[in-house]
Amino acid sequence: MAFYNRTTNRAIGRGKTKKKVEKRKYRRKVFQSIRGMRDILPSDCVYYDYILQQAKKIFNFYGFKRMEPPILERLELFTKGVGVNTEIVEKEMYTLKTKDEGEILALRPEYTAGIARAYVENGMSNLVQPVKLYSFGPVFRHEKPQAGRFRQFYQLNLEAIGEGDPVIDVEVILAAKAFLESLGLKSSQLRLKINSIGCSICRPGYIKALKKYYSKHLKEICTLCQERLKTNPLRLLDCKNEKCQPFKEEAPFSLDYLCPDCREHFKKVLEVLDSLDVPYALDKTLVRGLDYYTKTVFEFFAVEEYKNEEGIIQEKKTLAVAGGGRYDDLIKIFGGSEKPAVGVAFGVERLISVLKQKEKKIISPQPLVFLVQIGDTAQRKALSILEEFRHENIALAENLGKSSLRAQLQNADKLNVHYALILGQKEVIDGMIILRDMRSGVQELIPLTSVISVIKKYLRQDATSSHSKK
Ligand code: AMP
Repeated sequence: MAFYNRTTNRAIGRGKTKKKVEKRKYRRKVFQSIRGMRDILPSDCVYYDYILQQAKKIFNFYGFKRMEPPILERLELFTKGVGVNTEIVEKEMYTLKTKDEGEILALRPEYTAGIARAYVENGMSNLVQPVKLYSFGPVFRHEKPQAGRFRQFYQLNLEAIGEGDPVIDVEVILAAKAFLESLGLKSSQLRLKINSIGCSICRPGYIKALKKYYSKHLKEICTLCQERLKTNPLRLLDCKNEKCQPFKEEAPFSLDYLCPDCREHFKKVLEVLDSLDVPYALDKTLVRGLDYYTKTVFEFFAVEEYKNEEGIIQEKKTLAVAGGGRYDDLIKIFGGSEKPAVGVAFGVERLISVLKQKEKKIISPQPLVFLVQIGDTAQRKALSILEEFRHENIALAENLGKSSLRAQLQNADKLNVHYALILGQKEVIDGMIILRDMRSGVQELIPLTSVISVIKKYLRQDATSSHSKK
């Protein structure tokens, strides 16, 4: 059998060449990131940092404290908490078996179950309630990767545990909204959709009605929905398949089946939102995918806008950026006392795409001074000069591994620094250093002992002049 080069279509020799091709294929497969998982490069890390920084600012202000549960938990935590028949647990978990004890562990597909476990395990019910917590980190779901959908993605998660009053639902919604607005999203670019899916008392009646209705249309709905009817009927209302849309519209809705307690709860949530002028849309098909939800469920969408030919702002598409709701039974399921709770999770990559769409450039502070060193003596001295600057909280850019003046100045140029400090053997012996203004090219020789104070003075002058220009 002959082998052919794919680009030239020429026959290639067997043996060695085949081996080479195989090796290349192997390398390409092994030394490549896993499908749905990406490297977060420095140019994107600044967005993650920015989002966390805004989250800290806003959520601390709303009384939330940061806590981070481990990424790995026992699989059972998610089967019991999120639900065996949910898509996340049934199809999307990354699991592993430990070598020593043979325990089945799972990479967290979401935060709430881990936080609820931590609340019980760490006796947080003895603290002032509700315990308000936020977290920021990666979660893992073996979904089909597509635009805005990854297998490893970051969530920013908010929970308020230990209080059942409907005002807490609103408080979480308000904190979420304030955070989204702090990223530059205007009220008009945000949509809040809300619904109530009832509790363990009234939901069975609703599910029964839903099953009865869909059973009549079994042959007309998509195969996934036929499956959902058996395993997770609430998800029937989530279906995006064209075929199922007419049935969704006619389906029974949870709001008509709420018990008096759930009805009263939801009424108060909406009343408080109204009294605060928080816009929302009732969405009777909003059910959320996880079993632990009770009563209020909600989602935030970001609206992408564009100007049409007449310059009028139009809506392009909406992107789900956060989802949440109440989970009043989860703490009890995990062995705690009756502690109602509510939370929300933001999709960080979705927030980043919104920031990028808005052309919000997140720039991390760059050094404005570059230290050039030429020769061994200067290289050694440069290290101690760098430390002295760091003690004064001034970051210097450098290229300590390079020795050519030209190469280092080229790098300084690329980094757009304002000043280069140039140190050669002669300067070290004389206790001097050359200060070059990179914008004008003007150079001066200054004593090493005063270099920090001179740089400080120049940077101050630059800051004042750029400020007055603004
Ligand atoms: P969920 O935990 O499914 O309620 O998701 C909360 C938020 O996380 C959603 O509103 C999305 O913004 C984001 N999200 C969910 N799944 C993914 C995914 N596979 N990739 C990226 N972001 C996601």
